Amino acid sequence: MKQKRVYIVTMGCQMNVYDSEQMLRHLTSLNYRPTSQLKSADLIIVNTCSIREKAEHKVYSFLGRLTRMKRLKPNLMISVAGCVAQQEGYRLIKRAPHVDIVLGTFAVGRLPSLITQAEAQGRPVVDIGPRRDSEPLCIPEPVPKIERATAFVTIMQGCDNFCTYCVVPYVRGREVSRAPEEILREIRLLVESGVVEVTLIGQNVNAYGKKNGHGCDFPTLLGHVNEIQSLRRIRFTTSHPRDLSDELIEAFGRLDKLVPHIHLPVQSGSDSVLNRMNRGYSRDFYLKNVEKLRRVRPDISITSDIIVGFPGEKTVDFENTLDLVREVGFDSLFMFKYSDRPNVPAVKFSKKVPDVVIGDRFTTLFGLQSGFTLRKNKTLTGTIQEVLVDGYSKRTPYQLMGRTPCNRVVNFPDDGERVTGVGQILSVEIVKAFSHSLLGQRVAGAEEEGVGENGGMSHAA
Ligand code: SAM
Ligand code: SF4
Repeated sequence: MKQKRVYIVTMGCQMNVYDSEQMLRHLTSLNYRPTSQLKSADLIIVNTCSIREKAEHKVYSFLGRLTRMKRLKPNLMISVAGCVAQQEGYRLIKRAPHVDIVLGTFAVGRLPSLITQAEAQGRPVVDIGPRRDSEPLCIPEPVPKIERATAFVTIMQGCDNFCTYCVVPYVRGREVSRAPEEILREIRLLVESGVVEVTLIGQNVNAYGKKNGHGCDFPTLLGHVNEIQSLRRIRFTTSHPRDLSDELIEAFGRLDKLVPHIHLPVQSGSDSVLNRMNRGYSRDFYLKNVEKLRRVRPDISITSDIIVGFPGEKTVDFENTLDLVREVGFDSLFMFKYSDRPNVPAVKFSKKVPDVVIGDRFTTLFGLQSGFTLRKNKTLTGTIQEVLVDGYSKRTPYQLMGRTPCNRVVNFPDDGERVTGVGQILSVEIVKAFSHSLLGQRVAGAEEEGVGENGGMSHAA
């Protein structure tokens, strides 16, 4: 079979990053190999996000750029996957007729047959149907030899929470947890291929196992993952505050591989807004959990998501959010301007906040958090951090890039003589703190912990 090349653009969250990898695994059956050159691709996949309107605009603007390419190269296949594909279905073909395949979020495993079908019939195919019982949630193998230290592993898909602003339950379906044995097998295969850190992903990992009756809840799963030999670090995301159990909090004190970082999206500091968002917890409940986490792991880094300008958000609600941000002192924040999404309940909520007010509130919150982030980063100056090397810095060649256990990016000079590899954990002294990263210096004579099989990394772009 002739070898072909696939170029994948991945937009949005970790679920999409994971799905893109799944697509690559499925495409090996048609002899496709990934390429980083758009021009050399036989197949282009745009894996999309529809969480906010802006993300959706990005998809159409990218597709617009492909129109000419398709005209010059008629055999080029263009596929749109992910949440916009699931949401738009046939409408997408009407708006972008040069697209050959619309691949819904439940159709990832059917990608090879859809390609064959589109090639044979010479017109677009759309698959936004449900997953079939015979199709696995994910295929854990074959895992190709990979040049990186860290990997995402999906432990559950979909979401049952129906926050009133969010499209995820509509485009990703109801919550389904994977069987623990399957997850553990995938992690073992990744570790064999050189991965030393895994991030367990799902829209609400705290609810893992509650519905499917695998007899294993999230803290228990973490305990099993912690026992995998040669795995060095465990992360997870995202955690819904309502489902943060005391057992999970205690796991931070008990499991040596679980990093001291939790992403715990609060969304708002106002009880009235939280209520209308259907988040299922109060400001007080959130703050008490932060306190518990810090009691168990005083060095824990806490990050969060906040939506500014939810319908009906009054000045006092926003001030409550600022207050909560001051009280918690987040290590960093993802801030979002509220965006109406198709079919979600909040679209119909009255008292929409004017764009200009949303803009002002966003700037205020951004300014407040930037100060916290920088101050938190500065407290690390002079400390020695265990940095997991993930590759070379994109901006400054010959500077290695890695992450601390708290997930902060550290850049530090390559020590010329000693070529270090992806997957090594090195002791690095933090010499300078910036808003988004830290600058470090290898600690002379410090013991290196060589791990994985990926040593001897070359300078990658
Ligand atoms: N499942 C995760 C949770 O509940 O924390 C979050 C998933 S969502 C992909 C990531 C973030 O996007 C949310 O935490 C929220 O802050 C933001 N978001 C979701 N819908 C939004 C909307 N309609 N407008 C603005 N931000 C939104
Ligand atoms: Fe969306 Fe809420 Fe589910 Fe997160 S928990 S994916 S915000 S519905």
